[in-house]
Amino acid sequence: MIYDLIIIGAGPAGLTASIYASRYKMNHLVIGEIPGGLITEAHNVCNFPGENEISGFELMEKFQKHAKDLGGEILSMEKIIKIEKDNEIFQLMTQSQKTFSAKNILIATGTKHRKLGLEEEIKYLGKGVAYCATCDAMFFKEKIVGVVGGGNSALTAALYLAEVAQKVYLIARGDSFNGEVVWIDQVKNNPKIEIIYNSAVSKLQGEEKLESIELKNTKDENKISNLDLAGLFIEIGTEPDVVLLDQLSLELDRGYVVVDREQKTNISGVWAAGDITTNSASFRQVITSCSEGAVASYSIFSHLQKNRKC
Ligand SMILES: Cc1cc2nc3c(=O)[nH]c(=O)nc-3n(C[C@H](O)[C@H](O)[C@H](O)COP(=O)(O)OP(=O)(O)OC[C@H]3O[C@@H](n4cnc5c(N)ncnc54)[C@H](O)[C@@H]3O)c2cc1C
Repeated sequence: MIYDLIIIGAGPAGLTASIYASRYKMNHLVIGEIPGGLITEAHNVCNFPGENEISGFELMEKFQKHAKDLGGEILSMEKIIKIEKDNEIFQLMTQSQKTFSAKNILIATGTKHRKLGLEEEIKYLGKGVAYCATCDAMFFKEKIVGVVGGGNSALTAALYLAEVAQKVYLIARGDSFNGEVVWIDQVKNNPKIEIIYNSAVSKLQGEEKLESIELKNTKDENKISNLDLAGLFIEIGTEPDVVLLDQLSLELDRGYVVVDREQKTNISGVWAAGDITTNSASFRQVITSCSEGAVASYSIFSHLQKNRKC
């Protein structure tokens, strides 16, 4: 069985691409490790048209249902680990050794959480260090926690944690935030959130579990302080995972896949959409990922039509 298209990734970009692929009657398969993608971690999504306020998980349940209702085949919890091109056909292998073939592939693999890069970060993972407030907040009921970051993810994580934790320290490297003004206002007005500006986490400390962190003042490295807390949520943005991309020799820009306005990459038959690309002015959001997914399916359909042998 050779699919017209295999979409790698089941987030907003991949699922939208599937919806359009079904409408174009393209024989396709979606393979995605995390059903719904990164946005399922968002407690509140308030900027997706048609949904005033919805959790990321609920939003993506709707996407998945829509894609499936139109006949989209979705294989979840499977990771593609290898891609090879042989005679214009792509061979894909999953971690559980399943293989699939396709004429075209769409890379919609999104991004992964950026790490602080501290030595002890992995040691405390699941023992105080976390990357997803929506997933792990419940483990910190009535406890003191910290959130590191200065963008929307950090702001919304702090607000969500403030609903369950005793106190939340929001630790920013600079002296301001670069997120939506609505979130910044809410954070500043929340009595449970204390903002610590101009600070970077320099050490994670504790016996078995995280018990405290060391902070360095970003304006004066000699100013060091300690903060007792039970949990630290690292919300410093995301970055692309280049392992698969390197296998295909794709042209990258700082790890992101370079695509043209049709979502085409430098390799024939390989397309990319969503957070993993350089398109949409690097404004990495659900709506822009959906848009790129739709454009990609349209382009792949046009490409298949042009190359159809009479
Ligand atoms: C906490 C948080 C809050 C956010 N809030 C908002 C918001 O309010 N509004 C908004 O518009 N955006 C928000 N975003 C951004 C939004 O989540 C992303 O822009 C969006 O999810 C990108 O969609 P995507 O489909 O490109 O990638 P992703 O959603 O990252 O999906 C990638 C998919 O690819 C899969 N995958 C990756 N590698 C492989 C592989 N090798 N094999 C198989 N599958 C693979 C993943 O498992 C996943 O299914 C938020 C992000 C975070 C982290």
